[in-house]
Amino acid sequence: MYQKQIEQLVILQHLDQEILVLEKELEQAPKELAELEGRHQEGLDQQNQVIEKIDFLNAQKKRLAAEIEEDGLKIKKSKNKLMMASNTREYHAMMREMDNMEKLNRLREEEHTTLTEELSRQEEILVELKAGGADLAAELEAKRESLDKRLEKARQTLAELNKNRLAAGKIIPPPIQARYEFIRSRLRTPVIVAVTGGICTGCNISIPPQTYNELQRGKQIHSCPNCQRIIYWEQHLPEAAAEQAERAKKPESKAAKTKEEAAEAVTEGAEA
Ligand SMILES: [Zn+2]
Repeated sequence: MYQKQIEQLVILQHLDQEILVLEKELEQAPKELAELEGRHQEGLDQQNQVIEKIDFLNAQKKRLAAEIEEDGLKIKKSKNKLMMASNTREYHAMMREMDNMEKLNRLREEEHTTLTEELSRQEEILVELKAGGADLAAELEAKRESLDKRLEKARQTLAELNKNRLAAGKIIPPPIQARYEFIRSRLRTPVIVAVTGGICTGCNISIPPQTYNELQRGKQIHSCPNCQRIIYWEQHLPEAAAEQAERAKKPESKAAKTKEEAAEAVTEGAEA
């Protein structure tokens, strides 16, 4: 009976670790997608800004071209009229007016050239933005699809794990399970740990000899007086004890544990 109970507690702990990872994934995955969507929208906004700029530049160019043409015609007419000037004063006045118009048109032409250059620059930018946007749209599409699959699989696994968890819970007496949940709720992972050579592997502190003796007898479930974790004698569950020791050695290799969690557990161990 005792053996079965601690076995189930270890199983429960495994399940809870997997559930935690899945829940994190379920929470994290939509955030990744939202981030990508945000970047995509940002790109579209940039495109629109450039398109607006191009429209503005084109309007300016059109206006300038019309003005150049208009004044060009005027200059032509003035040249023809020049011959009909009745005196020198009138002739000079007409020349001045023509000069001014020609000067103005040269300035307009310079501006026209600048605008044309700026336009081609903006058009290049737009082409680049569009290419980037297309890449991002494709990435987004692929991500959406894989996310749906990932989430669906995670949900299925989670349902399965919760079912197993319920089954494991049936074998463990309610007070023990309540204790397990209490420790777990305070984020003290692992909740159930081996005692090796009289030392609690959760906090690395010796447990009192009497508790150790009782633990070895395997009649009832004990907690570490120091860290409150549920403890078992390593020889009752050698496989679980070995696995726990292995995990403590290289926490990052265990898929069920993120680096942060491993760091957390290490800090916690040091504190305790
Ligand atoms: Zn302890």
